[in-house]
Amino acid sequence: MLEQKLRDVVRDIPDFPAPGIVFKDITPILKDPLLCMAIVDEFVDRLEGIDIDVIAGVESRGFLFGLMLATRLGLPFVPIRKQGRLPYKTISESYKLEYGQATIEVHEDAVPMGAKVLIHDDLLATGGTVVASAKLMEKLGAVVVGFSFIINLDFLNGSGRLMRFSDNIISLVK
Ligand code: 5GP
Repeated sequence: MLEQKLRDVVRDIPDFPAPGIVFKDITPILKDPLLCMAIVDEFVDRLEGIDIDVIAGVESRGFLFGLMLATRLGLPFVPIRKQGRLPYKTISESYKLEYGQATIEVHEDAVPMGAKVLIHDDLLATGGTVVASAKLMEKLGAVVVGFSFIINLDFLNGSGRLMRFSDNIISLVK
């Protein structure tokens, strides 16, 4: 039911941000508060049994449900941001994106040593973004215990790249 609703609401935008790319636009979800609540409820159900200390969300769409989920679970939220956006001392990791190249950063004191971290983003494509995020967490001495996404573009096999960190890979629609 939720899966079908998401299929109905998420829009395909052809040729964004570059010709030939069909972008999944999640912004219509945000206009529907009941749907937003249902998404958080579903994540909470699916994450049951996974011991999580911190939720890390990836800029910028990973902040939307990452923070909602962390707040619901009573857990700290940590933003992983694009280069140059975080004000305190950072560590960084560069990676290839579906289109182009990017560097992401996190505050060096973002998570305590040994913390069990769930990494959240809106969409899994090639996996480059969350692999880089997982590497950042490991550099800080944290342990990645899972990944959550609204959408998994599973034909790109991104989840195959995440297995070495954790096989808890949750997505609400493929
Ligand atoms: P990946 O690194 O897995 O190849 O790409 C996923 C990252 O790019 C995520 O941070 C996601 O927000 C963004 N992204 C790539 N393609 C899309 C898309 O079609 N729709 C949305 N909403 N985000 C995308």
